[in-house]
Amino acid sequence: MVFETLVKVKKSKKEWRQQLTPEQFWVCRKKGTEPPFSGEYCNHKDAGIYRCVCCKVPLFDSQNKYDSGTGWPSFWQPLNEQSVATRPDLGLFSRATEVICSSCGSHLGHVFGDGPPPTNLRYCINSVSLEFDTQQD
Ligand code: FE
Repeated sequence: MVFETLVKVKKSKKEWRQQLTPEQFWVCRKKGTEPPFSGEYCNHKDAGIYRCVCCKVPLFDSQNKYDSGTGWPSFWQPLNEQSVATRPDLGLFSRATEVICSSCGSHLGHVFGDGPPPTNLRYCINSVSLEFDTQQD
């Protein structure tokens, strides 16, 4: 599937910059990474869902959150298969898989293969990219 066809919410860089805080813009639209153990959801254990801070669609469920010890909110699966998309993130010295919001293309974090069963995946997500909500739509 071509990534561009998935993205429904399209805004210009200027529009995103107006909507988001400088930190949110840097992480979500410039693929930045918050410092470990700095995010508000790192040790967050309340029951609810985590939405995309940019477009507000539900992305992750607290039931799939676990303590990875890495300093970032970690999930072993997204809310559903449609909520997030992945694409190769080819750095100069590393090869990783980027996780993005399917609806708006926001950078969320990366997914690694060292998570817990049953998926053995670790979705390593920036708190800055998320917005906690006790209610699903
Ligand atoms: Fe989004």
